[in-house]
Amino acid sequence: MPRIVQYECDGCGKIKGSDNHWFSVSGDGNSFQVSRFDRNATSVFCGEQCVLTALSDWLASAKMHAAGPEKLAVVNQ
Ligand SMILES: [Zn+2]
Repeated sequence: MPRIVQYECDGCGKIKGSDNHWFSVSGDGNSFQVSRFDRNATSVFCGEQCVLTALSDWLASAKMHAAGPEKLAVVNQ
């Protein structure tokens, strides 16, 4: 019997159908990368709105992690 693989949106929980408007998101905590749907990606989203929600969450967490004052580089001339 063939194995049926289902993809579920990490944003809203929608199950992927035959449409092809899905996106993949990957990142290592320092970056947020969006690409066309890739079945091997860690996160998949059903469309623009769910990607934007995920991006918004990522930006909020990135801001929290960068809450300390930035150190300025000292340049000796
Ligand atoms: Zn979704």
